[in-house]
Amino acid sequence: MKKIALVTGGTRGIGAGVSKALKEAGYLVAANYNSGAEVAEKFNKETGIAVFSWDVSNYEACEKGVKEVTEALGGTIDILVNNAGITRDGMLHKMEVSAWEKVISTNLTSVFNMCRVVIPSMREKNFGRIINMSSVNGLKGQLGQTNYAAAKAGILGFTKSLALESASKGITVNAIAPGYISTDMTDAIRDDIKAKITAGIPVGRFGKVEEIAHAVLFLADEKASYITGATLSVNGGQYL
Ligand code: NDP
Repeated sequence: MKKIALVTGGTRGIGAGVSKALKEAGYLVAANYNSGAEVAEKFNKETGIAVFSWDVSNYEACEKGVKEVTEALGGTIDILVNNAGITRDGMLHKMEVSAWEKVISTNLTSVFNMCRVVIPSMREKNFGRIINMSSVNGLKGQLGQTNYAAAKAGILGFTKSLALESASKGITVNAIAPGYISTDMTDAIRDDIKAKITAGIPVGRFGKVEEIAHAVLFLADEKASYITGATLSVNGGQYL
């Protein structure tokens, strides 16, 4: 039987690349999204991957969403990729409380929500792969991103702790820390700043979504059973 993979924020950007790569590798894939219904519909038509809308920052919505996915796909989640994320950048002295709260709830509380919902069934079947999307900026900090870096660093502590709790249950929990990857999120960066960032990347360019998807496939594999609590940097050689 095919293993079931659920990718949050899985219909565009990095998540879309991850969903497609998992499907190509033989997994049964569900892609979650939040508000981009048109993009999701197009993605579904092009790829045949089932799409499901809910807000990952809301616990009850996650419970309901996962239930829909398991009913539609005919089994519980084997691989969970917590990829959904947003930015609301600004220097701290000007940051609105709402920008802090929105980023923490979407990027960090969402990881608790999704893991809390899927972990009981993974423990029951003694198998699971959880892959959490952190960021190079969660490792090193970034000006204008106290909210984002705090959430992405928080993911790393969460990942290591859940890895310890799950190690005896056949469940691995790992994080990926992408560097700068070409998506809508980084398209929003000003060209002169992009040039400065690129100058600091040893490989000399932004990464591609396929390059993150490849790392997800590696960690999702059954044979990756001895890798847990790890953070895999995929960042073109940026030294941290
Ligand atoms: P995009 O902005 O391109 O896509 C974000 C995705 O997250 C969309 O599918 C969006 O859904 C979904 N999403 C946002 N909020 C919610 C929510 N509340 N509930 C459910 N889904 C939601 O981002 P990227 O592809 O660039 O980034 C993906 C992940 O990788 C993020 O966690 C990001 O922080 C991380 N990352 C990205 C880097 C980069 O350089 N691009 C670098 C390091 C980390 P919808 O379409 O409905 O809005």
